[in-house]
Amino acid sequence: MFVGHYVAAFALKGKEKDASLGLLFIATQFVDILFFPLALAGIENLKFEESFTEVNNFNMDYYPFTHGLLGTFLWAGLFFCLFYFVCYKNKSNKKQLAMVMALAVLSHWFTDLIVHTPDLPIISGAPKFGFGLWNSKILTFISEAVLLVIGLLYYLKKTVATSALGKYAAIVFVLFLLLINYLNLFVLPANDDIKSLTISALFSYVLFAFIAHYVAKKRA
Ligand SMILES: [Zn+2]
Repeated sequence: MFVGHYVAAFALKGKEKDASLGLLFIATQFVDILFFPLALAGIENLKFEESFTEVNNFNMDYYPFTHGLLGTFLWAGLFFCLFYFVCYKNKSNKKQLAMVMALAVLSHWFTDLIVHTPDLPIISGAPKFGFGLWNSKILTFISEAVLLVIGLLYYLKKTVATSALGKYAAIVFVLFLLLINYLNLFVLPANDDIKSLTISALFSYVLFAFIAHYVAKKRA
């Protein structure tokens, strides 16, 4: 899953106003931010198999550190500790803030579950899970769009615009994310080069987080 992961970022920001939307964007993609470099280093596996699914050629048969449910729990725990004991240690609501960051990390596994083929392990080996919506481009696009719009609507309901820009910025941003996903799914050719895939994935995650940070500044 790509932009659909951000449903959790918008929803958690709606729930906990003091949380940073930019950091929540990073947290929801955190295990993918680790996955691409780990795959590049050969620690986890990303093999390219022609027409593996309609969406991409990714056959990920070993990636327990980033996409095992246990691994994801541990990263989420690490996020909780980092934000509770370090980043937000002087805030009175540090427990809630650390908790939404941890939940954002954890959400990644459950949103991936919708689109991945059964390749998501609990620990490392079988059983593995995935509902396989990647077998259909159109269903993948629709499911990500529905998730993202649900997150956006909840965020808009729970926050108010502090300027004219704040009224529309989040909506325009989500339309931009949907356009990127459309191009990614239907227009751009499949990318089977691990190095350029890593660079473009990390670049998009950081870019989206920056935009999210500025969009959130226009609402309170
Ligand atoms: Zn993932």
